[in-house]
Amino acid sequence: MSLTAALAYARHGIPVLPVHAPDPSGGCTCDKGVSCERPGKHPHLRHGLTEASTDPRLIDLWWARWPGANVGLRTGITMDVADVDSAEGWHGLCHLLGGEFPAGPRVRTGGGGWHFWFNPMGYGNRVRLLPGLDWRGLGGYVVAPPSRHASGGDYRWVHRPGRPMPDGPAALRALIEGPPPPRHQRPIAHPTKYARAALTAEADRVARAPVGSRNDTLNRAAYALGRFVGAGLLDLSEVTRELVDAASFAGLGRAEIRGTLRSGLTAGRRAPFDPAPFTAGPAPFTAGPGRHVA
Ligand SMILES: [Zn+2]
Repeated sequence: MSLTAALAYARHGIPVLPVHAPDPSGGCTCDKGVSCERPGKHPHLRHGLTEASTDPRLIDLWWARWPGANVGLRTGITMDVADVDSAEGWHGLCHLLGGEFPAGPRVRTGGGGWHFWFNPMGYGNRVRLLPGLDWRGLGGYVVAPPSRHASGGDYRWVHRPGRPMPDGPAALRALIEGPPPPRHQRPIAHPTKYARAALTAEADRVARAPVGSRNDTLNRAAYALGRFVGAGLLDLSEVTRELVDAASFAGLGRAEIRGTLRSGLTAGRRAPFDPAPFTAGPAPFTAGPGRHVA
């Protein structure tokens, strides 16, 4: 029963949220029914995952209201999750892990994929980290056992939690971080102009994001622009307005936008953008005239 499971997750410090379940008619328990884009995978709550909680009284209330709800777990707090949905993703992750999967918690999703749990690495979500592999971190959630999948299967434990959670290996961390900034990077001459250009570009990217990657695109834009807000280069209310407009244009719902913006902007503001990355740290490599620093 999903309430019992939800309470157990919460006891282990994992914030829980009630998620819509697949409907026996083939759709979703939400108002959209058979035309739902993400049957059995999106939150019941108005503010989505920002309302996820470990409070057993709240969880009792939610499941009293929606007894058949799927169980969503907020990621990035006690665990991050590698979300594999194809054989290609399985091989890609296996390669990153050095050819062997850790013995940590592992879920077989009802849709034929796998969830591998890791200690949180401190990053946000990354959609299509590799083909068939998404990363769920800060600001994300996963559907967990004993939830039901739209294809008719159940989410099941292959390895239950309780065993030690593995750390993400260096190769995985490097992939999530993305390429390092070029060594030649110079202090940015006009930080305010640079920040304004970023605002235009990020808002544009959000407005054009295709269905399926809209929330992730918004999350990344909010994080990137939050860093400029943290550095005093952009105004919070302006960034919020631009991103709300762009995300509404892309077709995201009001509540989802608000929740994603809040978490992305907060995380970004905690890591303020540094327009002169080398001035505060040790001197960069010195190279002879004309020598290229690899
Ligand atoms: Zn739905």
